[in-house]
Order: sequence, then C-alpha cells, then structure tokens
Amino acid sequence: MVEENMRRKLIVGNWKMHGSRDQVSQLLGDIESGSERLLKDVEICVCPTYLHLGLAFDLLASKSGVGKGQIKLGAQNVHVEAAGAFTGEVSAHMLSEYGVSYVIVGHSERRQIFAESNQFVAEKFMAAQASRLTPILCVGESLDQRQDDETERVVLNQLDAVITVAGIAAMKEAVIAYEPVWAIGTGKTASPAQAQQVHRTLREHLDRLDPAIAKGMRIIYGGSVKAANAKELFSQPDIDGGLVGGASLEAEEFISICKSADQESCKL
Ligand code: PEP
Repeated sequence: MVEENMRRKLIVGNWKMHGSRDQVSQLLGDIESGSERLLKDVEICVCPTYLHLGLAFDLLASKSGVGKGQIKLGAQNVHVEAAGAFTGEVSAHMLSEYGVSYVIVGHSERRQIFAESNQFVAEKFMAAQASRLTPILCVGESLDQRQDDETERVVLNQLDAVITVAGIAAMKEAVIAYEPVWAIGTGKTASPAQAQQVHRTLREHLDRLDPAIAKGMRIIYGGSVKAANAKELFSQPDIDGGLVGGASLEAEEFISICKSADQESCKL
C-alpha cells in the first residue's frame, strides 16, 4: 500500500515559445513578489525559452540567488549529447551553468511535433541527470487512446521506456507529469477523479518496482490547470502539483495556482 502525500508540492510554469525580454522580466518579477507571500511548502519552477534563461538567471541571481530561493529555473528541452556538431541544440551542462534545476522531457508537443520517440526521451532523461538536473518526464494519452480505454497502457509504456533504459533507481531524482494530450491548451481539464486515477496507477506501478521510490515520487498534473480548478486537483492524494502552460503566463493566475498547492501542502 502506497502511503499518501509525504511529498512537497511542485508547480512548474511552462512558458513555451512566449515572451519578449520585457515580458519575461515583468512576469518573473511579478511572480517573485507574489510568491514572497507564500509559505514554503510549495516549490515553484518557471521554464522560459532557452533564449530567456540567461535573463531569468540574472534576475533571480540579483535577488535570492538562483536555485536557493523559492523560484527555480527549468528548461523546456535538452539535447542528449554533451557537446558537438548538433546545430541548434543545447546540452544539459550548458543549462546547469544557467542555474537550471529541472528539465521537461517527453512533452507531448515534442513527441508529436518533433517526433521524439520513447527511446530519445529516455536518453534526454539520462542526459539531464548526468548534469544533475532533475528531469520532469511527461506522459499522457491522446483523446483517441482514452476513448479506446488505452490510457493505462500508454502512460505505463511511456514510463517503462525510461525505466528500462535508465533503471528504476534513476527515478529517485525525477518528477513525473501526467499530461493527457487532449487537455493541453484546450481548456478541457481531466476531472480530479480522472487525474487521480491515472496518478494512482503510475504510483502503484512504481510501488511494484520500488516502494520507497513510489512513495517519494512527485507526480504532477498538467492540462489546462487554472486558478479555478487547481485546488480540487491538488487535493487529490496522488497529485503533487501541476505543470501549467497558458495560465503560467499571467502572474496573478499563476500565483493563485501556487497558493492552492501551498494550502494543500499545509494540510498534511
Ligand atoms: C503544458 O504545456 O504542459 C500544459 C499543460 O499547457 P496548458 O496548461 O496550457 O494546458
């Protein structure tokens, strides 16, 4: 039996390909000042574009220090190799030099638009860890797969693809994001019960492989999370925070989502 909620909530803002230098400065500043009012039971991470990581790094460093304050930096992608002739790519070590703590791997937009395979995602997962970055492994089913009752098979297959390559012990320093593809950027959210069921399935699967890892694993939910639905989602026993796209681009909305997570953490 998996014990519930020994885990600190994590809220990750995925800014995708949005923002000018001015907008990034403003948004980060507003999130920083808004988050000062939060308790320390929630961890916050923002993922700007590669191009804006340096700016975000400087802004955070001028305050509390990158990685030391409440707001962590994350990257939206990473390449599998450490260096070399890979035009347009960025390595995990380069990210680590900019204070990056987390890297999103296996996001459905990268799987679908950039044809990233399970194997490639597993290699990215390991490349991130080799530079001491924590991978946020995204898994999730399409609408057709859900309608065909394939959700469990799909998400466990995506998870197992990484475990097979990286080993179960590697999951100790990782986060899983359950992101039903049909809920990303669509305004449709999985109901708290639907999301909880998949999170529980993922945790039970890990529990069969390594109970301690299952217990400590943060499994966050992504898919049209907003202030209005965050509290109910985060109150589910196996939902340990959120991966937030659109709603992370508005400071007030994002802070309100973080507050919902903080309040839920406080209850434990
Ligand atoms: C995402 O980008 O991972 C995401 C969940 O986006 P949105 O919150 O906009 O659905």
